[in-house]
Amino acid sequence: MFKILRKTAQTGLVTIGYPEKPPLLSMRYRGAPRFDFSRWRDSRPAAEVCPTGAISIQERDDTRLVTVDYGLCIYCGQCAEADTSGAVKITREFELAVRDRRNLVVTGEYAVDAEGVQSELKKLHHGFWPVDETSEELERKVRERIHQVLGRSLAIREVDAGSCNGCEVEITALNNPVYDLERLGVHFVASPRHADMLLVTGPVTRNMELALVKTYRAAPEPKVVVAVGACGISGGIFGTNYATLGGVDQTIPVDVFVPGCPPRPHALLFGILLAVGRIAQKGLPQ
Ligand code: SF4
Repeated sequence: MFKILRKTAQTGLVTIGYPEKPPLLSMRYRGAPRFDFSRWRDSRPAAEVCPTGAISIQERDDTRLVTVDYGLCIYCGQCAEADTSGAVKITREFELAVRDRRNLVVTGEYAVDAEGVQSELKKLHHGFWPVDETSEELERKVRERIHQVLGRSLAIREVDAGSCNGCEVEITALNNPVYDLERLGVHFVASPRHADMLLVTGPVTRNMELALVKTYRAAPEPKVVVAVGACGISGGIFGTNYATLGGVDQTIPVDVFVPGCPPRPHALLFGILLAVGRIAQKGLPQ
């Protein structure tokens, strides 16, 4: 017992200050890839190695459309290694959650020369980078905000709709002393009837479809649904097949999408806070 107390005293405070303070990320922290579309001369090597099809190319005469879908990306970094123009870099960015699935997709329209080199960026269609206005909202004290919105703590029901459990490992970490989600007035509950938010992982297997729908119906209004990870957003590497439905929004309405494979606890925290703002938009029960 004395040993435990001594170790606790020696360890000191380990809980992070995020979102009030910027997080201390490890040296090996891997965030999303960033694509400098204006400098990208040849997207073909990156598209070829991308294991999930997050980078896709469409050729039309002397025009090439290059689409990056962050909802499919697993942050493996292979595109950055394969790219020869230095336009693709793996970043430490994690505040990537969005309210609109379309904001995870960026498309560059290029003129290509006879060698297939992208000679000119004609148009860029995107709504993703940098993230949206919510960064500003996050500067507020989160506990105050949640209480302001809900009048009490935020209750989350986690639903594993067929994930590999990678997302669950990160979600579980939210409750450890480092992330300590309860310091923000957020806690996990066992029943959807007590939940304000459903945190859903997995590509939604057909076996879990009915369970997910029933869980959604059981949660009282106003409720929000957060789709977690590449699988939760798009089906990820599983996509849509005989066993999976290809993303949570194919089964129930989704309010916030948190990309990553799996999203790290910081990224989950950002997504949860973004969803709290969504609850405020939807209105409170009378
Ligand atoms: S980091 Fe994302 S976009 Fe790049 S190769 Fe991996 S899955 Fe594809």
